[in-house]
Amino acid sequence: MTTPTNPFEIARDTLKQLAQKRIPPTPDNYQTLYHDIAGTKPANSTFPERQLRSLTEALPRSSPDQLRLARQLDEAIKRADWDAYQKCLSTFVAGLVESQKLAWGELISDLLRQWEAKHQGLTSARKRESLEHVLTSSASNPDNLFSRLQNLLRSWGNGREHEAGGGLPEVSELVSAAPAETKPPASANEHKEMLYQLRELFAFTLETAIATQLLESPSLSSDAKQLAQAIRQARNTEETQDFLVRLKRFAFKLELLAEDQQELRKSLLGLLRLLVENMTELVIDDRWLHGQIEVVREIIDKPLSQRSIDDAERRLKEVLFKQSQLKASLFETREAIKQMLTGFVDHLANFADATSDYHDQIEGFANKISSANNISALENVLAEVMRETRSIQGNAKRSRDELLATQQRVREAEARISELENELAKTSDLVRHDQLTGALNRHGLEEMFDKELARARRHDTLLCVALLDIDNFKKLNDSLGHDVGDQALVHLAAVCRETLRPQDTIARYGGEEFVILLPETRLDDAANALARLQRELTKRFFLHDNDKVLITFSAGVTQMTANDDQGSVIKRADEAMYVAKQTGKNRVVTKQWTP
Ligand code: GH3
Ligand code: MG
Ligand code: MG
Repeated sequence: MTTPTNPFEIARDTLKQLAQKRIPPTPDNYQTLYHDIAGTKPANSTFPERQLRSLTEALPRSSPDQLRLARQLDEAIKRADWDAYQKCLSTFVAGLVESQKLAWGELISDLLRQWEAKHQGLTSARKRESLEHVLTSSASNPDNLFSRLQNLLRSWGNGREHEAGGGLPEVSELVSAAPAETKPPASANEHKEMLYQLRELFAFTLETAIATQLLESPSLSSDAKQLAQAIRQARNTEETQDFLVRLKRFAFKLELLAEDQQELRKSLLGLLRLLVENMTELVIDDRWLHGQIEVVREIIDKPLSQRSIDDAERRLKEVLFKQSQLKASLFETREAIKQMLTGFVDHLANFADATSDYHDQIEGFANKISSANNISALENVLAEVMRETRSIQGNAKRSRDELLATQQRVREAEARISELENELAKTSDLVRHDQLTGALNRHGLEEMFDKELARARRHDTLLCVALLDIDNFKKLNDSLGHDVGDQALVHLAAVCRETLRPQDTIARYGGEEFVILLPETRLDDAANALARLQRELTKRFFLHDNDKVLITFSAGVTQMTANDDQGSVIKRADEAMYVAKQTGKNRVVTKQWTP
C-alpha cells in the first residue's frame, strides 16, 4: 500500500481507519492517526509557548543553579520540547529538596564537630547552655531554628578570632545578634596617648618583625630601621606625609624582593627537578639510587615545609649510611675473589712451567734412551722418567683440586655479592620503617621523638604521646591465622595514617603496639583524636573470607612535660594503657605527669 500524500486522501483514510478500528473520533485521536498515516509529526500548535515563556521569564536568576535552569528551560521552549521542559523542571525541584536535606545534614555534622572541638574560653557547659537556649526559643519554627543554629555555630567557629578581641560574645548576643553598645568618645588626651602607642607599635613592628626578616638584604633591613626612627620622630603632618612616601617606596622594594625570592626559589626547584629527572639517565645502575631520588622527588612535588625537609634529610642519611656499609662489604667480597683468581693463575703458571720442564726433560730422556747402550743405563733413565711423571701427576691432581675449591669459593662469593646487591637495592625502601605496616619502626620512632621533642621545646608547644595495643590480638591470630593478624596490623596502621593529621607520627612499637606522637596537641584533644580513631575502626573493618574482621584497641595518652624523656613518657602512656586494659579494654585513658 502506498502512503497517500494528498491531504484529502489522508483525511479520508484517517476517517476510514477511525471507523474500522473503532477508535473514538476525538480531535486528539484524529490528529494522531492523521500523522501516522501521513508519516509526519504533529505541529506544536498545542505547545503553550507563550505561557511557558512568561513563566520562565518570571523565574529568579540570581544563583548559578537558577541561571542554568532558566537557560535550559529557554532552550526547551525554543525547541517546543515539552518533555525536556518537564524534565529540567522536575530535576531542579528534586535537587532543591535534596539540597535542603543536605543543608540539615551538614549543619548537624558541623554541630557535632564544633561540639567536640575546643574553643578557648568556651566550656562545654556554656556550649550546652547556648544550644539549649536556641533549641527552646525556636522549637516551633524549624526555619528559624536552622538559621539560629547556623549563627550559633558560626560564633563558636569564630571563637579563636574572638579571643584576640577579648572574650566570646554572650549567649544572648549570639541569639538576638543585638548591636554592640557604642563607647563614649575618647578625650583629646586619650587620643594623643593612643596615637603615641600606635606609632610605637608601628616602629616596633618595623624594627623587629620586618627588619629581622630582611637579614639577607642588609640595605632593606636598614631601611626598615630608619623608617622606624622616622615614624617615632614624626611630629607633624608634613613629617608624617614624608614618612608615608618613604613607606610606600619601601613597600614597593619589599614587593620586588619577594618576587625575586619567589623567582629564585622557582628556579632552584626547577634545577633540582631537572637534576632528579636526569639522574637515572646518568647512572648506569639506578637501583641503588632509586630510593633517594624518590625522596627528593616527593619533597619538591609538595609545598616545602621545614618538617618535610627534616624528614627527607633523615631518610636520606639513613639510606646513605646503610648503603656505604653495604658497598664496603661488596668491595671486600670482590677483592677476595680477585685474590683467589690471582692465586689460581699463579698455580696454573707453575703447572705450565712444570709441564714444559717435563717436556724438556722427556726430550732429554729420549736422547738419553737413544744414546743408551746398555740396559742398566736404560733402567736409570726409565726410573728418572717414572719419578718425573709421578711428580707431574701429583702436580696435576693438586692443581685440579685447587681449581675445584677455587670454583666453589668463587660461586659462594658471587652468591654473597648478589645477596648484598639485593640488600642494597632494598635499603632504598628505607630501613627506619617497619616492613609490614610501613609505620616507623622503633629506631625511626626514637629519631622522630628527638626531633619532635626538640621542636616542642624550641617553640614552647605541647607534645602528646599515645600508646595503643590491639585488644585480644592473640585470639584473632589463633582463630583466623597469623596472616589475618598481619593484615589487621596493616589495616590499623593505614586507618591511623588516614584518620590522624599529617604531622602526627605513627610508629610500630612492638608486636601489636603502636606509639603515636601528636605535636601541638592538648591532652584532651589527643584523647579525642584516639577516640575518633576508635570510631573510625568500627566503621572501617576489613574482610576475611567475606567475614567482617573488627579490631579494637586500648590506649593510654599522656602529655610530655619538662621533666620527661622518651622513656618516662612512654612508660606513663603504657601505664595508662594498662588501666584501659584493666577497666574493660576498647577505651582511651589519659594520665598526667605527677611529681
Ligand atoms: P590484650 O587484649 O590483653 O592486649 O591481649 P592480646 O591477645 O592482644 O595480647 P598478648 O600480648 O597476649 O598477645 C599479643 C599477640 O600478638 C601475641 C603475638 O603472637 C601476636 N603478634 C605479635 N606480633 C605479631 C605480628 O607481627 N603478626 C601477627 N599476626 N601477630 C603478632
Ligand atoms: Mg601487647
Ligand atoms: Mg594486645
